[in-house]
Amino acid sequence: MPNHHKVLLSQRTYFFSQQTKDYSFRKKQLKRLKQMLKQNEKAIYHALKQDLNKSSYEALTTELGILYLEIDFAIKHLKDWMKPEKVPTPITHKGSESYILKEPYGVVLIIAPWNYPLQLSLAPAIGAIAAGNTVILKPSEYSPHVSDLLKELVSHYFPSHYFAVIEGDQTTTQQLLNEQFDYIFFTGSTHVGKIIMEKASQFLTPVTLELGGKSPAIVDQDAHLQLAAKRMIWGKFTNAGQTCVAPDYVYVHEKIKKKFIKQLIKYIRSFYGKQPLENQDFVRMITEKHFNRLTGLLKNRKHIIHGGHYNQAQLKIEPTLLDDVTWDDPVMQEEIFGPILPILTFSNMGDVISAIQSKDKPLAVYYFGENKKNEQRVLEQLSFGGGCINDTVYHLANPHLPFGGVGASGLGHYHGAYSFETFTHKKSILKQSTRFDLPFRYPSGRIMQQLIKKIMK
Ligand code: NAD
Repeated sequence: MPNHHKVLLSQRTYFFSQQTKDYSFRKKQLKRLKQMLKQNEKAIYHALKQDLNKSSYEALTTELGILYLEIDFAIKHLKDWMKPEKVPTPITHKGSESYILKEPYGVVLIIAPWNYPLQLSLAPAIGAIAAGNTVILKPSEYSPHVSDLLKELVSHYFPSHYFAVIEGDQTTTQQLLNEQFDYIFFTGSTHVGKIIMEKASQFLTPVTLELGGKSPAIVDQDAHLQLAAKRMIWGKFTNAGQTCVAPDYVYVHEKIKKKFIKQLIKYIRSFYGKQPLENQDFVRMITEKHFNRLTGLLKNRKHIIHGGHYNQAQLKIEPTLLDDVTWDDPVMQEEIFGPILPILTFSNMGDVISAIQSKDKPLAVYYFGENKKNEQRVLEQLSFGGGCINDTVYHLANPHLPFGGVGASGLGHYHGAYSFETFTHKKSILKQSTRFDLPFRYPSGRIMQQLIKKIMK
């Protein structure tokens, strides 16, 4: 029997033992998860440095810090979330009471990507644990140091019949997907998301798909250019652009384009220095394959107005701005997922909206400007997962906001209470009285029918 099958069976047996459902058990596991992270911060920083050259500052703010917030938030609200929810009962159901039970699904499979290999593996696990499930986590093979460390730590802090890490490449994922899980939570590309959903359909397993795509930013003519540039450069080049909600490209109003580009360059220099390739802390591309795909987009040098240099040995590409880009250019044909920011020019907001509407629904949209009418148009006329006005990326760190995509950028959402909801089945219960039995619903005479007509009009 393959190992993953044994683990799955042991988790199912453990789930049926009912132990994972208890409030104090769940709270204890969340605390244990935090303890696991706290006690091993040094090893975590080291693994992230090895896989992506992440600085400890980025590792804290974009990986560990988010997990600490999520764990504390879940511990604080867990009791409330778990409470059965009483709901009203219509007059036709007199005598009965109705409520919703919060039931864990059972054995959950989490499949994670490599770009925030710790955060995107464990943030869904926090929700799954809070909701009372058992967890099998498949981290990405492209971030082997973090994946190995996750396996080592999780197996030290948790029994495998409750929380287990199974490492491997896509063959392992496919083997896992041949098994019946009670819930699948996938973070990764839209292409693989489709494979996951197809595989899940064989058992009708519910899924959350946290996917990617091209997320636009729009800088209007009355935007605060200095702040817009600062926040754009931060959102785009954190993790060297390997962020699902990074602005993929930016539409800039023609009237302010020159000034805005000056600001962009100013902040690239201010954050990463004049020689970003020499910057010890600038994140690298995850593999040579990814590096080659991205440098391929820089072959046509005529669009490069800043940056454009790279270091093959270190897999580093410097923050690069491309100007006068159109939808026909190769860089606009796929999600960039690297430190390259194409600039498109506009003069009419209607054109921008039509262009974005004609593409897949993005994971995020960012609007910079003070024009309330244009802001409303962006919010009302474009469908997208979530986003910011006058900022980038920051929405995902608010646990009160659900995080997820729509259409090609994903299905479902999580973070904060939404993570608990994601991994919880809402079980509807009507408890009937045996003290009396209202006659309405039973086959009956004309008078009763008229009475029902009056009630159910
Ligand atoms: P990916 O889809 O290539 O891989 C994700 C996971 O799926 C990995 O664990 C991998 O082993 C597995 N996998 C890959 N190919 C498979 C196949 N054919 N069958 C079964 N499993 C397979 O994604 P990635 O390159 O790791 O991550 C980058 C993508 O993820 C980008 O598109 C990015 O936008 C997206 N992303 C989305 C979010 C989000 O929260 N919405 C977060 C991070 C990344």
